[in-house]
Amino acid sequence: MTFIPQDVINQVLERSDIVEVVSSYIPLKNAGRNFKAPCPFHHEKTPSFVVSPDKQIYHCFGCDAGGNVISFVMQQEHMEFPEAVRMLAQKVSVTIPEQNVQGKPRAQARQGLCHVNDLAVKYFHRNLLSDKSAEAKAARDYLKGRGITLDVVEKFHVGFALEKWDGLIEFLRTQGVSLRLMEKAGLIISKTKGDGFYDRFRNRIIFPIFNIKKQCVAFGARTMEKDNPAKYLNSPETEVYVKGQHLYGMNWAKEAIGRQDSVIVVEGYVDFMTPFQAGVENIVASSGTALTVEQIRLIRRYTHNVVMLFDADQAGEKAMIRSLDLLVGEGMHVRVAALAAGEDPDSFVRRYGIEKFKARVTQARSLFDFKLTFLKNKYDAKSVEGRAEISAEMLATISRFPNAIIRSEYIKKLAQALFVSQEALLVELKKISGKHLTPSQAGRKTGSEQAATTQKIRPVERNVLRLMLEEESFIPLTKAEVLLADFRNEHVRNIVEKIYEFCEQGNSVSIPALMSCFDDQKISQVISSLMTSENALVGDKKKIHQDCVNRLLQERMKSKRQEILHQMEAAKSSGDQKRLEELALEFNQLLKRE
Ligand SMILES: [Zn+2]
Repeated sequence: MTFIPQDVINQVLERSDIVEVVSSYIPLKNAGRNFKAPCPFHHEKTPSFVVSPDKQIYHCFGCDAGGNVISFVMQQEHMEFPEAVRMLAQKVSVTIPEQNVQGKPRAQARQGLCHVNDLAVKYFHRNLLSDKSAEAKAARDYLKGRGITLDVVEKFHVGFALEKWDGLIEFLRTQGVSLRLMEKAGLIISKTKGDGFYDRFRNRIIFPIFNIKKQCVAFGARTMEKDNPAKYLNSPETEVYVKGQHLYGMNWAKEAIGRQDSVIVVEGYVDFMTPFQAGVENIVASSGTALTVEQIRLIRRYTHNVVMLFDADQAGEKAMIRSLDLLVGEGMHVRVAALAAGEDPDSFVRRYGIEKFKARVTQARSLFDFKLTFLKNKYDAKSVEGRAEISAEMLATISRFPNAIIRSEYIKKLAQALFVSQEALLVELKKISGKHLTPSQAGRKTGSEQAATTQKIRPVERNVLRLMLEEESFIPLTKAEVLLADFRNEHVRNIVEKIYEFCEQGNSVSIPALMSCFDDQKISQVISSLMTSENALVGDKKKIHQDCVNRLLQERMKSKRQEILHQMEAAKSSGDQKRLEELALEFNQLLKRE
């Protein structure tokens, strides 16, 4: 992604009107100085979604979503930050300069690679549909034998690479593509002896892999030979393709996933195609490996609800178990659907029909039940050692749930299932908790816990922050007396640090611009919740401010005194009389200062 300078972001923020942008998606109702609506980000009957035209921010008091106009577009359109800024910039006619010199040529190079890939898609596809060679005919027969119809082949641009060494090279040459570009696209390989190249994919069925912008970024190629150990051959990593960052089918499925607020994850290309073609469109394929964090985050742009449907074989189960912990760690709700041994989604749909397939998905078990059954098969649940192994692996998953209530529910269930005490499990859980928190998990919480985080900020800190954001004159007054360390809440401390920084640089503080300084969405939410909350500060603001500042100063003194008392205790027990006297003197001076 190219870098967008902060002053350009600020320009976009200044020119955009949040009320106009939000009301292009949902109808807003006037409510005093603000606007209200049922929240677009969670289901509710009474509106708790507030938009403030004065402050140019929004906040939902139900799910704690909040931020400036950029955050709104990101959340509503499932966009990344730069993408959202670009979209808004276009609306308000702000040009985003191509910042780094390398930016533009790189973007062009990526376009070039996608273009070459698109040409290759056409070539492979035409081979499959109409090439006269014996191998192309064999490929058509093979697909027909697997129940893959012409409709499917056309919809998903399935193709075929001929058995020739230079079929693609020759075709791309006629299209004016240089060998260098073909090599950069990963389509050809240079010969070990001397110069010259040959086609990477030969005599294989080709599945083009598209990104969510529907550009072809890579290819998966399947052999039709039963005894070929390399069942699949994939494109190497290129400038447009990094392994583990794309999900096969996302380009076709994303709308349905968003609409149905859930996704089914299967393993193979064909496991994706058959259900999709039969009408189950909220589906993607992981291409036979465990999901990566990047892939999970890609899914999370559209939904938090995942049903895993992997092949009922050992490799499938293993890949699934590995994916589960990552999914939980990324705050996803996961269920697991099961098929009979030896079956995969493709064969299942063709044998039993799509309605039975849908039923399997609806009946998907909780992640807890699935993993427990899996482990009970792996270890001997009758022996003490076996039960210890099972609990250790179960706790590794349970510890990843951000919500304490869910964790304690699972502990209860696990204790019952294994006939062990909850206390013992809790002791074990404590040992592993926090060990593998991902940064995103540490930074982001879900549902009710999220709302609680904002409330956990003490009123004294909330008031000081709010006053500074409401009236700029309170900033230097606060800065002169209150240190960053005096704020106990980490988010508040981060925000105040930025405000002090703005003040030092002589800049005024605009709330939307302040929000755009933080990558952590949580911090924007603290600000939006604070600034749209209806519990207005009542009374003389100057007096409230002075009271709060005094309170923070008193607290600082108090903790200093406590620190000295601790040190005095230590000096006493080590018999250091001189140190003790020094500390006593310091303590008395502190008392006098109050
Ligand atoms: Zn909400």
